[in-house]
This record gives sequence, C-alpha cells and structure tokens, in this order.
Amino acid sequence: MGESLPPPGLYVDAALVDLFKGTIDQLISDMGRAVVLYMPPVGSGCPNCLSGPDGRSKGIYNVANTFVINTTMHRPFPNGSICPVCHGSHQILTPVTLTYTALISRAPKNMKFSELGTTPENVYLTKMQIVAFEDVRRCDKAIIDGEYCVRLTDPVRTGLKVLNYVRCFWQKQT
Ligand SMILES: [Zn+2]
Repeated sequence: MGESLPPPGLYVDAALVDLFKGTIDQLISDMGRAVVLYMPPVGSGCPNCLSGPDGRSKGIYNVANTFVINTTMHRPFPNGSICPVCHGSHQILTPVTLTYTALISRAPKNMKFSELGTTPENVYLTKMQIVAFEDVRRCDKAIIDGEYCVRLTDPVRTGLKVLNYVRCFWQKQT
C-alpha cells in the first residue's frame, strides 16, 4: 500500500524552519568553540631536485631552486645522491588545517558506546554549519577542546526540514 499524506507545511512552515535555523546559528555563534580539522596534506613537486619520468627524484640538484639557499626547501647536494629535501620522493607534503566553530558535547547521551567499543568520556559530538560537511568527512583527525580526536562515525546532515548542519561523533585519540 502506498502512503497517504496530507500536503506538507501545516506545522513545519517556512517561518518555523527560518526560526530554527536562526536559533541554531545563534547558538553556534554564542556557545560554539573552535574545532581544528587536519586535512590530508597537499603534495607538490620538490623545488630542490629534478624528477624522472616516474615522477620520483632523479637525484640531480635543481640549480634553478628559488628558495633561499641553506633553508628547509633549498639544500644543494652532489648529483647522484639522495635529495635531502624530499628524500628521493620528489614530493613535498604541506599540512593543511581548517577551523570551524562547533557546538561541542562531551560524553553525549544518545549513543551506544559499548557497540562502538568506546566509553562516554572519550566521545565528543560536534554540530557545525553544513559548509563543513566535506571537510569533516575527509579530515584525518581534529583537535576538539585541546584533544586530538578521530571520527567515530561518518558525518550526518541534520536540520529541521532543511539540512543546514553537520553532526559528527568523535573519539579521543589514545
Ligand atoms: Zn627533492
């Protein structure tokens, strides 16, 4: 049997949806704290050596290196030895962090901790604006209230009718 529903919008109308969003946004702004997401590092070519067809270092010093000599990114080396900047990979990984404001609950109640192999005091729940969704999904770890955390669950879109927020459970890294 197919479902039979009255037209939507009688209780949850546009004004209530707006009120809900305005309230949650204000709560995030007033009571939210910074969460730092550690994104996968971005790779770029080593400026200190030349690469071969396989993309790895050829072990040849790049005389055109524009970084200041004898700093982290510019260390001359004898040709035929291993580049001291990239250690032969020709890849330089740059860490990327992003900061969002989140409502943070410690030891959230609506959670089956034992099923997830953890205990309440190690769990955080965050709620951020939906713009953070992809970054929460992709990040390697986060700093929440000074603690390194990893995702305990996938992020979930939440909201009243319009999914304006992302919710995620995290576990303190031990
Ligand atoms: Zn190199």
